[in-house]
Amino acid sequence: MTPPGAGPARAGRRPLFRMLNGMRERETGGAALRGDCESCFGLCCVALPFRRSADFAVDKDAGTPCGNLGEDNRCGIHTRLRSEGFTGCTVYDCFGAGQRVSQVTFGGQDWRTGPPGQARRMVEAFPVVRQLHELLWYLTEALTLPAARPVHADLRRLLAETERLAAGTPEELAALDVAAHRQRVNVLLLRTSELMRAGTRGKKKNRRGADLMGARLKGADLRGADLRGAYLIAADLTGADLRGADLIGADLRDADLTDADLTGAFFLTQPQLTAARGSTGTTLPASLSRPAHWTTGL
Ligand code: SF4
Repeated sequence: MTPPGAGPARAGRRPLFRMLNGMRERETGGAALRGDCESCFGLCCVALPFRRSADFAVDKDAGTPCGNLGEDNRCGIHTRLRSEGFTGCTVYDCFGAGQRVSQVTFGGQDWRTGPPGQARRMVEAFPVVRQLHELLWYLTEALTLPAARPVHADLRRLLAETERLAAGTPEELAALDVAAHRQRVNVLLLRTSELMRAGTRGKKKNRRGADLMGARLKGADLRGADLRGAYLIAADLTGADLRGADLIGADLRDADLTDADLTGAFFLTQPQLTAARGSTGTTLPASLSRPAHWTTGL
């Protein structure tokens, strides 16, 4: 469900914090579901790999600290990420996994100064918790959707279980089959999607996983569409009607959402939105914020 373009890159401490600071906070079981870089030891800048591409200027292996990460866990180029070729860093969010692993799982002990083996264990735990927190985000959202009421009890059960798993010890996290848990959650999110989209009148388009890269969808009627995992990279969605569409995992990098209507679109995350282009005329779901670069161009 992670948008292909959103990982495995990591965002910079300051820029990420700044760009997401307008994002409405979703909390469940005490876990904040957005990155709080001030409470994290720069884990995404260490744990995640990236490859030289349009999103990253250099190669970096998993577990290797980024060359731009300072001893104070701040990004040395945070004001220039886009101009220096690290756009991928500006659109990443850990959904709060960084502060949980730093402050809870490892009790506030920095990977630099912890006992032997701690850095490796933190690097291993971070992506697992990140996936669990992403699931918490979706489950929490699903519980806000009135049409999903028939599955609310099941959603609550899986929410509690996911929260329990995310609170596991490093050893428990290492042993967790997170892919299997994702699959269980996904079944319920699919059912939620069906219930939600059933409320949209007319024929609903099914574009699940479709290759729509660069597609000309200007003004398209995509109300209630299934766009799960669709590749919409650089698609022209200007003026498109995406009301009530399921956008879970859709890759919206460089997609043009100028004047598009996303009212009631669901399972859309801030990183997906930040990776796209848009305008003041784009209508957003209530839980998301307009990315700063849509208006400033920076
Ligand atoms: S450039 Fe490096 S240090 Fe800066 S945000 Fe990206 S991964 Fe982190």
